[in-house]
Amino acid sequence: MTHRPILSLRTLSHSDPAPGYNPDSGNPCVVVRENSVLFLDGSASKTIIISNLPFSHAIIIRTQFLGYLEGKPCHALEVPADSSESAGYHFSGIRDIYGIIPDKELALAAYAVRIIDFDRSTGFCSRCGAETRQIPSRLVKRCTACNYSTRPRYSPAIIVLVKKGDEILLASSPKYPADLYSVLAGFLEPYENFEDCVHREVKEEVGIDVTNIRYFGSEQWPFPDSLMVGFIADFAGGEISIDTNEITSAGWFGRNNLPTLPSPMSISRALIDAWIRQEI
Ligand SMILES: [Zn+2]
Repeated sequence: MTHRPILSLRTLSHSDPAPGYNPDSGNPCVVVRENSVLFLDGSASKTIIISNLPFSHAIIIRTQFLGYLEGKPCHALEVPADSSESAGYHFSGIRDIYGIIPDKELALAAYAVRIIDFDRSTGFCSRCGAETRQIPSRLVKRCTACNYSTRPRYSPAIIVLVKKGDEILLASSPKYPADLYSVLAGFLEPYENFEDCVHREVKEEVGIDVTNIRYFGSEQWPFPDSLMVGFIADFAGGEISIDTNEITSAGWFGRNNLPTLPSPMSISRALIDAWIRQEI
């Protein structure tokens, strides 16, 4: 299998204990404002890895250690929602910098946004409401009253490319632009394993049965917190009958009659591209 996850953080190494943020070090940072990152849009370099902050350190409201980047500690820094931009820098959503910065930086930006969001949304215990404290060097918040632990949340979901001979099943959703088709996807129900979820989602959305489910690859998808697990499955029977709440149109497509496909920044497109290249 040649699938390469688009968002991978294998370039980031970790250590224990995690170093604190030192504002005078010039070490790399990712600056987060709400769900955006600070993007240096210079003519020589376009990056979200900032070594010299273009504003006073005094405005930083939160820091989190992300890992070591080429041997240097790298932190996510949160600045207030009303922080202004300076020349050459602007705040940008993760999707807007896809293809403009390297994939490994995109993964880092998405991780920084996710970890800052974890920090800001877990200040109080979800069980008893008391204040929490972060366990040193770990992404765990512990309640100061009842000891309940909270970790960054992930919502597992499946995404599946269904094959029938030389064709694949693609569907259009009310959530997509009108002419865009993709493979099927959906969140796990608490009573399901991944295979159960593949069978149910395909049956519910298009009314067909599948078999021979195999793993393709996975992706953390930080919009906001999906962990997408990709599969390939073979058509086993049935006629396409769509759930009109979820799907507006679905059909079998060959390599020569493909509709508009999702953006390259998605595991759905990675699945379709791998099939186009006849790798799966
Ligand atoms: Zn508690």
